[in-house]
Amino acid sequence: MGANSSIEWTEATWNPLTGCTKISPGCKHCYAERLAHRLQAMGRSNYVNGFKLTLHEEALSLPLHWRKPRTIFVNSMSDLFHEDVPVEFIYRVFDVMQRASWHRFQVLTKRSGRLLELSPHLPWKSHIWMGVSVENQKYTFRIDHLRKTEARIKFLSLEPLLGPLCRLNLEKIDWVIVGGESGFGARPMNRSWVTDIHDQCQKAGVPFFFKQWGGVNKKATGRKLEGQMWNEMPLGKQIQDGNSGSLEPSPTEQPTFFEFQSSTS
Ligand code: SF4
Repeated sequence: MGANSSIEWTEATWNPLTGCTKISPGCKHCYAERLAHRLQAMGRSNYVNGFKLTLHEEALSLPLHWRKPRTIFVNSMSDLFHEDVPVEFIYRVFDVMQRASWHRFQVLTKRSGRLLELSPHLPWKSHIWMGVSVENQKYTFRIDHLRKTEARIKFLSLEPLLGPLCRLNLEKIDWVIVGGESGFGARPMNRSWVTDIHDQCQKAGVPFFFKQWGGVNKKATGRKLEGQMWNEMPLGKQIQDGNSGSLEPSPTEQPTFFEFQSSTS
């Protein structure tokens, strides 16, 4: 349940739950769904239920046993704030994150309403980064929900970007990631949507990370925008493309470094 990750913006994944249900257009070609079915066909014990929401008690404490500090994408195969996840389970996931303070956790959700509802009861620390996914203008309300939470580091995953996002309110947002859809049936992403978001980030002084153009062959389209890579990170830190280096324990709670794979939620 814990694995090194190929996602461009993280180092490892931790999946105390797997499976989900679709909630908005960004879910149409859910990477987690495809992978879950593949792992089920391979006979992997954690995927006997395929993409049906499943809690994995045995995986809860894993980060506490990883002594080397890592940047960890939480629930790459699900959505922690899914309506069927018991609130007690969410608290337990946060309790582990709070205690495993030598790591950096990245939680990403599309269920921003439930996130906002539970936020006052969650132990927000600066090594727990909270993000919402937004695919088009209709779902920017998720950003407003995120802004109202007590999360110390707030980020946006604008992936798969399916339409323009004009006049984003980036107040209290620490980081923006943009990416096009990839794989079979990938929906196209217009260059002007990306450059406009980039301009908005520059104007607001918000770090911008361009993950990929996407398409059927994402390696061919690459991840350069205007001739360069955009790997900006919160707090002015940057990563090198495809190489995160190692994470050292931070003497403070402040995140100092973070890398980025294909992301869900
Ligand atoms: S994991 Fe994310 S992308 Fe997949 S169905 Fe759930 S919310 Fe949608």
